[in-house]
Amino acid sequence: MKILGKYSIGLGDRFGHQGSSQLKAIIAASEKGIEITPVWNKSNREHNTIGTQPEDVRIEADSVTKSAGFNKPYFVDADHINLDTVDRFIESSDFFTIDVVSYIGIRASDEEIAQFLSGVEKYTGELKIAGTKLLFKTSKKQIKQIAEKYLFAAKKAWDIYRKIEKVKGNGSFITEVSMDEVAQPQTPVELFFILRMLAGENLPVQTIAPKFSGRFNKGVDYSGDPLLFASEFESDLLVIDYAVKEFGLPGNLKMSIHSGSDKFAIYPHIGSIIKKYDKGIHLKTAGTTWLEEVIGLAESGGEGLDFAREIYITSLEKIEELCAPYVDVIDIRVSSLPSKQEVYGWNSNKFSDSLKHTPGSSDYNPDMRQLVHVAYKLAAIQKKNYFRLLETNEQTVSKCVYENIFNRHICRLFDIK
Ligand SMILES: [Zn+2]
Repeated sequence: MKILGKYSIGLGDRFGHQGSSQLKAIIAASEKGIEITPVWNKSNREHNTIGTQPEDVRIEADSVTKSAGFNKPYFVDADHINLDTVDRFIESSDFFTIDVVSYIGIRASDEEIAQFLSGVEKYTGELKIAGTKLLFKTSKKQIKQIAEKYLFAAKKAWDIYRKIEKVKGNGSFITEVSMDEVAQPQTPVELFFILRMLAGENLPVQTIAPKFSGRFNKGVDYSGDPLLFASEFESDLLVIDYAVKEFGLPGNLKMSIHSGSDKFAIYPHIGSIIKKYDKGIHLKTAGTTWLEEVIGLAESGGEGLDFAREIYITSLEKIEELCAPYVDVIDIRVSSLPSKQEVYGWNSNKFSDSLKHTPGSSDYNPDMRQLVHVAYKLAAIQKKNYFRLLETNEQTVSKCVYENIFNRHICRLFDIK
């Protein structure tokens, strides 16, 4: 049975050039006593935009781990797959993020709902999380509404799981269930019953990605009340712990934080809560590596800076088209974006400092950073040129990638000094 380690990080490498720098950050954490399992993830949308195949991620993960002599577990994650998109991932992935969002809100049959409700009667009135002070009021009506909203999705998760299992065999891959890409966060009570539904289908889920309060915008800090997040996160963690025992779910089931890169305001809370209860975490940081590539090119100057500038200027022109698929996960104040004329006057440092996520830096521009985050398509259409520049400026770029994952993410999350 494949088991995901206690701490794991989802690393996205859109253009397949930074795997070894990302792995270097994992190795550096291990040298500091924090063992993190690397998981290279890429979604169907990213593959389509860039023109890659799931096998490419497998080849990269295998080759960078081999050349670094990394002999610990690592995984390749088919990120946000559903029944329609899973097929081409099955062979090369050994981690599947089953996304049930498109099935949430579709009603299961009356019989299925009735059957589920009869199995959870004892939680009606109040739901006490044994061993904690948590106590939630529940009602028959409320539980029925939860069943009507989520049971069909849980059953679909099972269908997707079975489709993968048929090919790969039982226990040969990690299963995550994600429902983060929705407008409303799930409450701890909803999470409890969702876990009951997944357990009812015998789904060996090892990570679950709920939607939390606040905004998890791409590539920038958490937007919301970090203390509110912390209390929600702690409740979810305790609910999961209880559900594991109550329903016989995998003992290592843990939370997965999507759009987890750059959420510096909540890392200390996540870090201290998982430490307090001795629990694990999966942090998906996908996408942020592309930004580091642009920053590295800008820092390199010359042609690299020209390229970074051109990407930004084109992204300004195509802002609507680029942002459309990401409306729920970006918040760009157009008035704060530097104009084309302004960036023409910028040198390497000014450009890279504007994009680099250094909290408190007066040059850092989170609006520009979000726009460039969703602009990777513009590099995908000139891959030959882009790869040539990445290769010529490899040293600077890989240093940016490494420092971003290790210093800004891992050290903050795990309180490494
Ligand atoms: Zn997600």
